[in-house]
Amino acid sequence: MEIDEIKTSYKLVSREYQSQNSVIRVGKAVFGSLDIPVIAGPCAVESYEQLLEIGKGVRQAGASMLRGGAYKPRTSPYSFQGLEREGLEFLKAVGQEVGLPTISEVTDPRAVELMMEYVDVLQIGARNMQNFALLKEVSKTSMPILLKRGMSATIEEWLMAAEYIMVGGNEKIVLCERGIRTFETFTRNTLDLNAVAVIKQVSHLPIIVDPSHGTGDWQLVNPLSRASIAVGADGLLIEVHNNPPEAVSDGPQSLTPKNFALLMSDLATIGEILGRQVSKEKR
Ligand code: PEP
Ligand code: MN
Repeated sequence: MEIDEIKTSYKLVSREYQSQNSVIRVGKAVFGSLDIPVIAGPCAVESYEQLLEIGKGVRQAGASMLRGGAYKPRTSPYSFQGLEREGLEFLKAVGQEVGLPTISEVTDPRAVELMMEYVDVLQIGARNMQNFALLKEVSKTSMPILLKRGMSATIEEWLMAAEYIMVGGNEKIVLCERGIRTFETFTRNTLDLNAVAVIKQVSHLPIIVDPSHGTGDWQLVNPLSRASIAVGADGLLIEVHNNPPEAVSDGPQSLTPKNFALLMSDLATIGEILGRQVSKEKR
């Protein structure tokens, strides 16, 4: 369909514009297919040793990408802000060591060029979903972008944020549902699995789910991961830490490598029912 015939606010990202699923490949991870790629790693990179231990664990369990924050957007200025460039160096080194592509959050348009030297995918976090200068900057690159949903963003606003990236020339976009703010405060956020089904209907972009931030509780990560795959998510983002009680950020929602391995085996069972697979090869 021609773009001016599309009446929705978002156009290039709509299914009207492109009926077939977009498929985004990063190393062995394929988003938007029958595969179930799982991105795993700590909220924040804390040290080389910490990341190596986690990296080995998640790779062994079948993760297809290693995550780790180096520039952390923290609510409090007194909280740990990230190891910055050193964190990116550790992430790149561990990614190479364990043989996984890497992803980290970019928080500033001026840092995009630097980040590109270190990671395979740029993450735009919930707090920056409508940082239009940042969206425009990453749109000029050919890097795959993981665009998280803003914690108070509607599905339409989220799709328009993706539209900024696509209209700027970068088509490699993966959406990530990470929970929204509602009146419910029992959990950290309310994971909106409606959004997965809606996005699948109205957009050709792949969508993954982050049940770690979506629930804030490691014990809820496994059931909500299973639900995400059952509803049709194209993959998952899971926070994993070797010592959650001591983590500098998001410990309560982080799985240990052992619990992550259990999750991966549960996902394999669900995948079988759905004719999908968690990882292509036994590592
Ligand atoms: C994160 O992935 O660690 C993060 C800060 O996520 P969000 O932007 O979804 O809060
Ligand atoms: Mn986190």
